[in-house]
Amino acid sequence: MASEVLCGRCGALLTNPNAPCPRCGSPASGSYYGPRVRPRKNPAVATALAIVPGLGHFYLGHNAKGLAYLLGIGGLQFFGFDLDLTVIGAAVGVPMELGGGGLWIFSIVDAYRTAKRMESGGV
Ligand SMILES: [Zn+2]
Repeated sequence: MASEVLCGRCGALLTNPNAPCPRCGSPASGSYYGPRVRPRKNPAVATALAIVPGLGHFYLGHNAKGLAYLLGIGGLQFFGFDLDLTVIGAAVGVPMELGGGGLWIFSIVDAYRTAKRMESGGV
C-alpha cells in the first residue's frame, strides 16, 4: 500500500517520508507526516452511491451526515418511521419542508457538491 506524503514545508511529494525533502531539505522527523493528504473522491462515484440514501456521504467520509440522510430518507421512505424531521434537518442543514423525497434528491445533489468541494481541496 503506497502512501503519499507531502513535505510539510514546501508540499513536495516525498517518495520516502523518512528521508529529508529532496526539494527544500526539510528534515523528516519521522513523526510529522505533513498535512493530512485528503483522499481524492470522485464526484460521479459519490453521486451514484448517493442513490442509496447516505451512502454517498459515507463514501466521502461524512459519516454523521450520511447517517442522518440514511435515517431521514430511509426511515421516511422505506420504513415509515415518524421521525422528528427538524432534528435531522438541523443535522444536515436542509429545510425539512422538502419531505422525504425532496431530501433524497437533495442528499444526492449534496453528495455531488461535497465531492466537488473536496476535489478542489476544500473541506
Ligand atoms: Zn520540502
